[in-house]
Amino acid sequence: MARHIDRYLQPLLDEDRFDFYKAVCDFSDAEIGAPILHWEREHILIPDSAIRKMGELGLFGLTVREQYGGQGGTHLDLILMGLALGYHAQSAAITPGAASSLGTKPLQLFGRDDQKQAHLPDLAAGKRMFVFGLSEPGRGSDAANPEVTATRVEGGWKIKGEKCWSTNARWASHIVVHALTDPGGRPGHRSTCFIVPMDATGVYYQEMEGKEVWLQSSTGSVAFDDVFVPSDAILGEENEGFKVMVTTLNGGRLFIAGLSMASLAFMLDKCRGYVQERVQFDDKPVGRFQRVQDVLLDMDIALHQGVTWLIQLVKEYDAGTMQRESAAKCKIECSRRASDLATLAMEICGGVACLDEFGLIRHFRDLFVCRVGEGSNFALKSMSTRPLVPEIADILE
Ligand SMILES: Cc1cc2nc3c(=O)[nH]c(=O)nc-3n(C[C@H](O)[C@H](O)[C@H](O)COP(=O)(O)OP(=O)(O)OC[C@H]3O[C@@H](n4cnc5c(N)ncnc54)[C@H](O)[C@@H]3O)c2cc1C
Repeated sequence: MARHIDRYLQPLLDEDRFDFYKAVCDFSDAEIGAPILHWEREHILIPDSAIRKMGELGLFGLTVREQYGGQGGTHLDLILMGLALGYHAQSAAITPGAASSLGTKPLQLFGRDDQKQAHLPDLAAGKRMFVFGLSEPGRGSDAANPEVTATRVEGGWKIKGEKCWSTNARWASHIVVHALTDPGGRPGHRSTCFIVPMDATGVYYQEMEGKEVWLQSSTGSVAFDDVFVPSDAILGEENEGFKVMVTTLNGGRLFIAGLSMASLAFMLDKCRGYVQERVQFDDKPVGRFQRVQDVLLDMDIALHQGVTWLIQLVKEYDAGTMQRESAAKCKIECSRRASDLATLAMEICGGVACLDEFGLIRHFRDLFVCRVGEGSNFALKSMSTRPLVPEIADILE
């Protein structure tokens, strides 16, 4: 069955972009949709062979300029990749997605020329991967004041502490570490970002155990035991690390909104097919019941609205005109609606929805990450409300 989402996407895209999206959909059907159940049941992360094929397709270098060996595309291309791959499994889409939107992006935004020359060609080719090291065991939503510290020493800095929830850590060559460098500085100007090789002495990576979402994605904790980095490992300005992180998150949140829509698109197609086939009472399909139709229609409306809003915002993001809180609002709404609808989608399919092979339960689980990841929706609401009430913005909780 054709993906219903395509009828909303196609009018918003030029022909080349839509062709690119369809090519990634074909890749996704063959390389993700076909083996995903096997990977889940065998509890294996995305195999290196699949990551290599993504690299061959250019998915790691979509937004990297051609002078560095990338495809020279825009954030819109990245979002389209997320929609195409995430349809079968968010965990497959987030691998190249986080590599670009959280890993490569801060380097593109804040890196010096020599840093870009050193890393971008290999990042674009999928031979290197950067991890976004913001979250810590004790610092989630309150990320501006990290417990990880960097202390100045002869010739550079020593980093100490622990990062967690680091997507792609298993495959990472480097981690961008957000560390406290000036505890007495102004709020928001106390931290600095450092590019730290994962094989530096004193860096210890461990895959986080017990995670029941994004099953094929690597999520690691990374500890730093007095890790030395030279002064030129700083990314961006000293004591301006929080700016590096929050600026990067704007694009990442749009990607998460896209993953929410990818899951919703899959769920809608699955339900459309099932309610026309499944017969109950008088040998007629359950799709004839109006309550079942209500759910289908709500999913369809949410998909159409979400995709249209998302693509509009991504175009603004690429043009540099997007309001900062827009990405947060779009992520809040797309993830909330898709995850609320996931329960109803399962309900209209009945017991079969509990089976892994049916696919809905995967999206049900993964949509929870969209509510929490890259800023929990509740925490993002405060930020998003501020422009509405500017006179009391500084006392909002
Ligand atoms: C699968 C996965 C992958 C991730 N990948 C990465 C990654 O690659 N890099 C990285 O740095 N991080 C990553 N994260 C971490 C993610 O960004 C954090 O989980 C998120 O920022 C929320 O932090 P927390 O989980 O510590 O929740 P907490 O900050 O402890 O918040 C708990 C709850 O309290 C409420 N709350 C907190 N603050 C507020 C507020 N100001 N207003 C209202 N309510 C509030 C919310 O309901 C929130 O959900 C990942 C997380 C997951 C689950």
